[in-house]
Amino acid sequence: PRRAALILGTQLLERHPALDDDDIDELLLVESAELFDRLPYHQHKIVLVLSAMRHYVERRRDEGRTVRHVPHTDGRSFSEGVAHLIREHGITGLAWMRASDRGVDRRIDRIAARAGVQTKRWADVAFLTPEVELDAWFRDHPRARMEDFYRWQRQRTGILMEGDSPAGGRWNYDADNREPLPKTGIRIPELPRIEPDAITRQVIEEVRERFPDHPGDARDFWLPVTHDDARAWLRAFVDERLGDFGRFEDAMAADEPFLFHSVLTPALNLGLLTPHDVVDAVLEASGDVPLPSLEGFLRQVIGWREYMRGMYRAHPELEGANALGLTRELEPWWYSGEGIPDDLPIPVRTVLERVLQHGYAHHIERLMVLGNWFLLEGYAPASVNRWFLSLFVDAYPWVMVPNVFGMSQFADGGMVGTKPYVSGGAYLQRMGRWWPSQQAAKESAFTEGYWDFLQRHEAVLEGNPRLALPLAQMRSRRAPER
Ligand code: FAD
Repeated sequence: PRRAALILGTQLLERHPALDDDDIDELLLVESAELFDRLPYHQHKIVLVLSAMRHYVERRRDEGRTVRHVPHTDGRSFSEGVAHLIREHGITGLAWMRASDRGVDRRIDRIAARAGVQTKRWADVAFLTPEVELDAWFRDHPRARMEDFYRWQRQRTGILMEGDSPAGGRWNYDADNREPLPKTGIRIPELPRIEPDAITRQVIEEVRERFPDHPGDARDFWLPVTHDDARAWLRAFVDERLGDFGRFEDAMAADEPFLFHSVLTPALNLGLLTPHDVVDAVLEASGDVPLPSLEGFLRQVIGWREYMRGMYRAHPELEGANALGLTRELEPWWYSGEGIPDDLPIPVRTVLERVLQHGYAHHIERLMVLGNWFLLEGYAPASVNRWFLSLFVDAYPWVMVPNVFGMSQFADGGMVGTKPYVSGGAYLQRMGRWWPSQQAAKESAFTEGYWDFLQRHEAVLEGNPRLALPLAQMRSRRAPER
């Protein structure tokens, strides 16, 4: 018998379970252009996945392993690629690590059944929380809030704990973490610069040739594609930016796309880094980092990221939810950047241009600029989801679905977040100084859209305690017109 492990492009773990399993004779990696044809994926995302896969192949071969690799240039679909390798190499057993996205395991099962090979699955080890424990917690907590999950996670892992108590006496330092950038005197360290090597250069050429109409310019590719580069990227973040991460977590700047964010998801979501790597690196530096930054950052990684995965697994109905009944489709210029309307508010235009350039925007821009605008304009959550999934270098269904349908678009009616994340221009101005004056911010389409939004959805939002004040303000603005 010949037993092979199929390693998916999002599972490029240095400690993939296949590598410790003596039953495995060879590794299979299958690139498929067909997968990237399904949506207009950003060119950087395609380069990232393909280049990271090829580096993985090379690394494992250097270790002396047998690796079978189907390049996308063969023109095979994923299924055809796997079936081809099974036939060609007389494989009788196929093992893989359970996929984070729904539907993938079933698809591989079908390929294996058609090929008549035995199967085995390893648990998904790309997260901190074992699947069984995660699912059990969400079963026991049907109205699961992130804060409850996070406390459980801290206690379960002992991270930032002093015995049974949270380090420093508080679970959450959010209140300390809401500063805008000061007008002057703040230096924002640059992200590490990575020179593309021969493999990446080759992939860039292939992507330009095969996906010329996809958004972005492959030649500007900027992300780590190996474990070593990803670790160096993590180290640079911990050394240079983590200390200020907390304070400026919610800040925005018209001329600065990354601020003090880590930009770790491109590597994390492919397995080039694990959350364990991130937690270890951060805790090692903990002596030099203010507690609000330390806690604020670790909450994102051990809290939000794992909580979103749990929500995705526990609530398949999130995908496709549309509590506000929104129907507008995103226009083509959201993908192409061509013909962006002149009256698009400046924060949205700026962030959109950044996304088209880098395939990235930081969290508060995703939530309070893009997501906010999509809600105010009445775009359908499925259309919004499709856009994020296509344009962002770190987007995969397990993390997109709860973030877009849940946190950002309130399509779940308030499971992930307790209220829709909408705001007028004043908030955006306070956190990002987008407009030349406070007055311009107040008069922007955000402010008008905000009041309209509350009015349009009054019936659904009524009774939400966090919206009692805004709804009352909305009614008193409306009153004189009656
Ligand atoms: P940092 O700000 O440095 O945060 C550190 C880490 O915390 C991140 O690397 C990430 O692993 C984790 N994290 C923080 N917030 C979240 C969250 N809400 N959900 C999951 N993990 C989180 N994240 C993705 O990984 N892929 C996506 O496609 C994605 N789409 C999003 C879409 C919307 C509308 C919103 C509101 C959020 C989305 N997020 C997504 C969550 C979050 O915005 C990104 O994880 C984060 O911006 C990635 O940049 P960073 O690595 O610089 O994060």
